[in-house]
Formats: sequence, C-alpha cells, structure tokens
Amino acid sequence: MEKQWHQLTSTEVLTALNSDLERGLSSAEVANRLAQYGYNELREKAREPLWKKFLNQFKDFLVLILLVASVISLAVGEVADSLVIIAIVVLNAALGVFQEAKAEKALEALKKMSAPTSKVVRDGGISTIPSRELVPGDIILLDAGDYIPADVRILESFNLKAQEASLTGESVPVEKECAVVAAEAPLAERHNLGFMSTVVTYGRGKAVAVGTAMNTEIGKIAAMLQTVTEDSTPLQKKLAEFGKGLGVICLAVCAIIFAMGLWKGYQDGALTFDEVQMMLMTSISLAVAAIPEGLPTVVTIVLALGMQRMARKNSIMKKLHAVETLGSISVICSDKTGTLTQNQMTVVKVFTPGRMYAVSGEGYNPAGQFTHQELPVEAAAETELDLLLRSAVLCNDAQLKAAADNKTWSIIGDPTEGALVVAGYKGGYTQSQLAGQFPRLQEIPFDSGRKMMTTLHRFDRQLRTFTKGAPDVLLSRCTAIATGGSVRPLTEAEKAVIQAANKEMASSALRVLAVAYRDFDSKPDMTNPADIETQLVFIGLLGMIDPPRLEVRAAVELCKGAGIRPVMITGDHPDTAFAIAKELGIVTGSAQVLTGKDLDAMSPEALKQAGETTGVFARVSPEHKVAIVEALRQNKHIVAMTGDGVNDAPALKKADIGVAMGITGTDVTKETADMVISDDNFATIVAAVEEGRVIYTNIKKFIYFLLSCNASEVLVIFFAILFGWPLPLLPIQLLWVNLVTDAFPALALGVEKKEPNVMRLKPRDPAEPLLGGKLKTLIVVQSLAIAVTVLVSFQYALASYGGDLTVARTFAFITLITTQITCAYAARSEYYSAFSLGFFSNKFLNGGVALSFGLLLVSVYGPLHLIFKTIEPGLHEWGFLLAVAVIPFLITESAKWLLKLSAKPAQSMDVSN
Ligand code: ATP
Repeated sequence: MEKQWHQLTSTEVLTALNSDLERGLSSAEVANRLAQYGYNELREKAREPLWKKFLNQFKDFLVLILLVASVISLAVGEVADSLVIIAIVVLNAALGVFQEAKAEKALEALKKMSAPTSKVVRDGGISTIPSRELVPGDIILLDAGDYIPADVRILESFNLKAQEASLTGESVPVEKECAVVAAEAPLAERHNLGFMSTVVTYGRGKAVAVGTAMNTEIGKIAAMLQTVTEDSTPLQKKLAEFGKGLGVICLAVCAIIFAMGLWKGYQDGALTFDEVQMMLMTSISLAVAAIPEGLPTVVTIVLALGMQRMARKNSIMKKLHAVETLGSISVICSDKTGTLTQNQMTVVKVFTPGRMYAVSGEGYNPAGQFTHQELPVEAAAETELDLLLRSAVLCNDAQLKAAADNKTWSIIGDPTEGALVVAGYKGGYTQSQLAGQFPRLQEIPFDSGRKMMTTLHRFDRQLRTFTKGAPDVLLSRCTAIATGGSVRPLTEAEKAVIQAANKEMASSALRVLAVAYRDFDSKPDMTNPADIETQLVFIGLLGMIDPPRLEVRAAVELCKGAGIRPVMITGDHPDTAFAIAKELGIVTGSAQVLTGKDLDAMSPEALKQAGETTGVFARVSPEHKVAIVEALRQNKHIVAMTGDGVNDAPALKKADIGVAMGITGTDVTKETADMVISDDNFATIVAAVEEGRVIYTNIKKFIYFLLSCNASEVLVIFFAILFGWPLPLLPIQLLWVNLVTDAFPALALGVEKKEPNVMRLKPRDPAEPLLGGKLKTLIVVQSLAIAVTVLVSFQYALASYGGDLTVARTFAFITLITTQITCAYAARSEYYSAFSLGFFSNKFLNGGVALSFGLLLVSVYGPLHLIFKTIEPGLHEWGFLLAVAVIPFLITESAKWLLKLSAKPAQSMDVSN
C-alpha cells in the first residue's frame, strides 16, 4: 500500500506534490491544478428548485382559504370571481417566491464578502487568496486564530497548536510538529497533519496542502455539516405569534359578520340563496383581506435589504437577528488599538537607563533621526540604544515594505512591531542584515494573556533570548539591567526610574513596550514561557504614538446622545488608555480606570457595580472581557463587544452582538461574531447601530400601516351589516384592495430613510411590545377614519345616484384604496408630520403609491371593470372621490400632533463616564 501523508518526511511530501517550500507553486501550475481538482469547497446541499418554492407558497393556511373561496365561487357559477381569486393567489405566490429569492441572494452575497482567506506562498511571494482557490501543493502560512483551510502536512512549526474538537473530539489543543508519524496512528495522533476547518489556537507555522474540498477528512463527513439552519429572529418569532393571534381574531370577527349578515337577512324575511352565498364570499374575502399574511415576508425582505445597506457601509451582518438586536444596544465595548485609534504606530520616544531620546519622522517612512536633548545622536555610538534597537528589530515578525515609488511605506504584520522595525531603520539597522547576523532559532509567540513575546537567537558566541512586552509585566521579570556596557543587578531605585519614565510616556498617550534579554549556555526548552521569560536583563523602553481615528470623537458623541455608553477595553497601559479615552470623549475629567488586576480582586457583585460607571478597562486579558460582558448583561444592558485575537472568541459569543475586526481579526473571531466590520472602525459600529434602529422603526411603520388598512376593511363591512346597509364592497373588490395596497406602499415604508431623531432616542428595550400605546392609538384612529370615510362615500353615492349599488360600490372601492394610499404618508413616522418630512423624500413610496393608483385605474376602466363590477367614473365623480381621499390622512396627522402635545418631554440621558 502507498504511504500516507503523515508517514512521509517533509521533503518527500514536497516532492510528491511537486511543490517548493520557499517559492510555492507558480500561477500557471495553480491554474492547472484548479482545473484538475476544482475549487476547495465542500459540496453544498442541492438548492430547492423554483417550482418547489412556488408550491410551498400554497401550504399557507390563508392561501388555502382563498383556494376554497375560489372553488366555492366556481361551484355557484361565479366563474369570473373564481378566476380572479386564482390569479390573485398565483400573483401572491409569485411575489413570495421573488421576495424569498431576493432575500436568499442578498444573504449569499454577504456570505461571499466574509468568505475565508488564506495566506499562501506562490511565485516566490506571500499573498492572501480566497480559501476556495487553494490547490494541493500550495504552501500555506498558519497563524494563531486561522482556520486551517485544507488538509495540510506541517512543514514548519513554532509552537503550533490546533483545536481539533470538531473532528477528533479532543477538547484540548494539540501540538503540531513536522516529525513523521507511524502509519497506524489514528487521526487524533497524526501530529504532523492539520485538518480542514480546525483552528490554530497558538503559535505559527508553514504547511503544504495535501487535500482540498471533498478530498479532506471533513469532506468525508461533509453531509453532517449541512444541517446548519438560520433560526428565526426574535422579531420574526414575535410576529409569527402576533400574526397567529390576529388571524384567529380575524377569523372570529369574520364568522361573526357572516352570522350577523345571515341573521339580518333572516329577520328581514328575504334570505335568498344568493344572499347567503354573497355573505359567505364576503366573510371569506374579508378574512383573507384582514389577516396580514404578508408580514413575515416583508419583515424578512426588509431585514435582508438592511443587511445589504449595512454591508455597503462596511458592516457585514452574519446573522439576521443581529440586525434587530443592534437597535437595542446600550453599551459598546471597544478595543482601543485599531478600532478607536488608527493602528499607525510610530516610535517617538526611547528610554534607556539614564537617557531619554526623541525620534523624528512620520508614519512608517524610515526617514528620521534620534536626538538627545535636541542634539542628534548616532545610535551605534550609544551602547544602550544600540542594543535596544537591535533587540527590538530581532524580536519581531513585521516587515517593512516600500512601494515602487520608494515614497510610500507599509508594514506587513503587526503595526506595533512595524513601528519598532522603522525605529531600527532610523538608527541604521536593517532586518535582513540583523537576521543574517543573529539567526532566530526558536520563538514564543506574543499572546495577549502574557503580553510578551520572546525569540531565541545565536548571538555572537552565545544563545540569547530577546523578550519584548508590556513594561509593567516585563519589569517584574527583570532581575538585572544593562547599562554602561555591563550588566548589574536591578535596584529598586532603578526600577522606580524606569516606572516613572513609563508613566510619563503613557500619560501622554504613548503606547510603551519594554525590551529585555537573557543569555543561555545551551539551547533551552521553550515549551513553558514562564521558564524562559524570567531573570531577564532590562534594556530599555520604546514609546509610540497611535493617533486616535478622527471620526471616532463624533461617533462617541452620537452614542452618548443615543443613550449608548461607549467603553474602552484594552490590553494597553491604564495611563495610555485613559489619555486616549479622554481625547475621544469616552471619559471626562478624572474618571476611574480599572485594570485587569483590579478586576481579579473584585467580587462579581462589585464588578457589576463598577461596570455601570467605568469607561476604561486597561491591561485586561481576554478572560476579563468575558467577566465584563457578564457584569454588564446582568445589569440588563444589551452589549456589543469587539475582538480580534483568537482568545476573544468567548467574549464575542457572550455579548449580545459580537463584533469582529475585518482587517486585524482572526478567522475564529470572524466566525464567532454576529457582525464583522471591514474597516475595523468604531464609527462603523455606531453607524450600524443607527441603521439597526432605522430598520426596526421601518418594520414598525409597515406593521402599523398594514394593520390599520386591514382593520378599516373589517370595520367597513362590520358597520354596514350592523346598520343593515347593503354590502359596500364585493368579495372580489376586497381581495383586490388587499393585494394592491398591502404590497407596494408597505414595502416602500420598509425602506424609509432615517428620521432625524433616530440617534436621540434611548435604546429600545428588547422586551418592549411590538406596538406601543401611541401606535395602537394611531391604528385605531386611522382605521376608523378610513372606514367612516368609505361608508360616507358609499352613502353619498347611494343618495346621489338613485340608489345605484354599482355606483355606490365603485365609490366605496375607490375611496378605500385612495384613503389607504394617502395614509401611507402618515405612516412614515410616528413623531414627525408628513408635511415636515416632505412628500418626495421616499421615492419608493411615491412609486408604490403610483403603482397602486395605476392598478386601481386599470381595474375600473376598460374590460376589467366588468370583472370588478364597477362603473367607469367620470370627472364629476373624481371631484368628490379625490376630495375625500385625504380626509383620513389629515385626521391621522392631527392625531399625531395631539399625541405629541400630550407626550412628556423626553428625559435627558446621562451616559457620561
Ligand atoms: P487593544 O486590546 O485595545 O487592541 P492592545 O493591542 O494594547 O490593545 P493587546 O494586543 O492585548 O492589546 O496587547 C497588550 C499589550 O501587550 C500591549 O499594550 C503591549 O504592551 C504588549 N504588546 C502588544 N503587541 C506586542 C508584541 N507584538 N510583542 C510584544 N508585546 C506586545
């Protein structure tokens, strides 16, 4: 039997795959292999065909009622009615399929935007490609937080560990290394292989793809993975229940109306078969017209459209429910570096024992100079500075890159490390030269729990580790100090001087890193960081600026006005954090800053209290983030939490909205998050919250609109029967009104622009009922106003046209439609009058209204009027009809105005820390 991948040495694997560790595959070879092996994607479940989706629409209870109605119409000889009902049903189903397809497409496009990528070596350079384009033989770079994008054979490992629970059930991360493994080793023990869709939790490494797509371990069990379903959102669930309740009420009301009609007819002693049939048809059509069967579809489509709009503004929502939760957010916990700041680090101050240097230059451009007391200095001539810069460049994974014009410079890797590389260049030290001189033998990668990183080098004739990290952490591990070209034990007085220098830099918003070293006689075992990162020799401090993002200040202010508290949670020093938070307006005056250490000493109860007032948490570890989210949530806050590192995933999961960073975020956080922001910017989160609020209010708008329209139809029939009048509307007319007014203006209300006060209101309480008291009042007023106007129009026509029922019904039919579409303008806001919003600010609504009105004209003129049993109204009729069309709208607007007058002034919101 042929040897399996884990039995082969690295070289054998590369030879078998015809690949090269340093150069990777060539583009031409990649194209060949892509053609041979196909895209690196797991096969998806076959999509439901269109006809099936179409038929599914007929499963709906309400549609079945319609079909029954059409059969009854046919049975009693009303062929035209029956055909129209069928046409309406088919049109409805087609609309349903269209909406569903549109929502599906929108979701798919979003999925593509957040599709995973991989770092590969191709044509001798490193590039980031969509993981679906990986082919066997590709050389892949792996970092903590990455999903392994294919089945791979490990070629280089620096403490590489992977979490494989999803595949092997092993709950702790397993070490990955290069050594050959015995043939019979089970999957969980093949330590030189990495498996598709498992996660790198620690370290970094290089690997070669040995299997892609269905040709992977996970591919073999892919069928099991295809059961992922999108849960209904809380709003959709609330609506489903609401609709069900409403449906039952509607059916009951219609049954009562049917019974009342029969009773009246019986009392009058003239109950004919035709009349019974008419009442039956009216009740059935009324039921269909009254039940808001379109609500769930419209809500889904509005949420999906909202997601698309948000994507255009850099927030990719991963779950539909997050769109509505966003509107309730009351606290946004944000990382500092990169989210509130620009993540454009530049070293500006350097401290070595006894000396403070200033560094000139801007950004990553390596042009700049070191000065001491304003006099230029040569780094190589200053013993301590020389050692500090060399160490900082060696203990570093970032690379400085110049653009073709040699003017713009960029960093590949961590900006903090990039700043150190640039500082090194300014002192005359290049990475390539130093790396050649002092080769790196091993490393302990940075992690935000330890807040340090260490590399082991051959240094002159010895072995030396360089450690860099947070000064407070690093200083506690130092026992000696390098000064004046020699090494002495570190005294308490010297420690105090270093701490003071650190504090001075941090208080002026600088991010400070400390650097130290340790010599070894023989190669140490680096598996346990605590054994290595101790007994260090202190070298110096480097202070870098990371300017705040310009747009964040305004976003912070917007948040506060909207009753949302911004909170900074950072791994950085409390003084640096506080200085930046103050600059951005997150905290004011001498607000309190809590550190990770403080949190450790606190009881959960104390943390709960502190969570209410603290605006800055500094020097925290990822575990603290979880505790902070928990405390805030216990205080009934709806919390958004940002994260980028692999260890941030639990906190993102705990938060109501986990926000992953699109640029610096790891695959794991992106996968766990509810939302990914593609520009890493705090202001983007605030914009998304605003959009979330707008979407929710828009959903409320069309619910309000649909309910008041439907209720008005029920009221018209109800009052007519109650007063013993002939029926003002025929079944076929009711069905048409339902179709015409429900769909278009309602959809247009779903895409209303934001109202001016959207970010001046408090966050919405998630427990708040869908329709508050004010909206309920407006629904009652509007539906009554429409019903009464329709009845007046009906009675007017009866009186004016010699009791001609066809004319009177035409009047009622037209008035019902025109009053409903004018009322759509009143439904645009519960706070602002339609006049102040302007009648042209929602072009979709104008289009929807024009379409509805056009369809009304089609139904009363030409051949269709025979089917709808109307007259063809002339100019004289239109005079009256148009005059009454605006009455309910004006009544609703007046009600809005009165409600506004009686409302209590909004309470001012104090969310400052
Ligand atoms: P935020 O949590 O706001 O993103 P942060 O980037 O400071 O802030 P971490 O990445 O957890 O948070 O870093 C914590 C601390 O670790 C930093 O303040 C710095 O002192 C130190 N540090 C950061 N990056 C490195 C690195 N590459 N090597 C060594 N130490 C680092």
